[in-house]
Amino acid sequence: MDLKQYVTTVEDWPKPGISFKDITTIMDNGEAYKYATDQIVEYAKKVNVDIIVGPEARGFIIGCPVAYSLGIGFAPVRKEGKLPREVIRAEYGLEYGKDILTMHKDAVKPGQRVLIVDDLLATGGTIDATIQLVEELGGVVVGCAFLIELTYLEGRKKLKDYDICTLMQY
Ligand code: IMP
Repeated sequence: MDLKQYVTTVEDWPKPGISFKDITTIMDNGEAYKYATDQIVEYAKKVNVDIIVGPEARGFIIGCPVAYSLGIGFAPVRKEGKLPREVIRAEYGLEYGKDILTMHKDAVKPGQRVLIVDDLLATGGTIDATIQLVEELGGVVVGCAFLIELTYLEGRKKLKDYDICTLMQY
């Protein structure tokens, strides 16, 4: 299946000059959503994972069906103030300023093999912070999987020590 035909490019959103890749047109098509999920499930089987970790919000949309399909758990990474119990934090840079991602302290157990899943790899900042959180908890990041990679932003360089799987490249 050519998944790219289900991606909608929205020019100048959320601001002028940005060419936004909208994956909701993959999700609202049952065949495309299942196909995309199945591709990541196949990758997950190859790298042998114990738990899926995904950052809000689109990391949930892709990561949860992968976890369900494999019959394993999913641990959410959320913005500060959203998780109810004790958390650990990682800061990451945005174009202007900083943001903070958090995980529950017991979300990943030491030694667990973790696959990190998100919709899109751009600069790699979000996943870099997610990796820091997983490793602080003692998890082993065995791979990072995305639907889309914006190759010109060179996120792979930032994540050079990790195995990366992307289904579509732009
Ligand atoms: P990074 O941290 O620069 O790699 O940006 C990746 C994060 O920004 C992901 O969580 C994406 O959901 C979001 N993102 C950045 N650009 C796009 C886009 O064009 N479409 C959808 N999400 C995007």
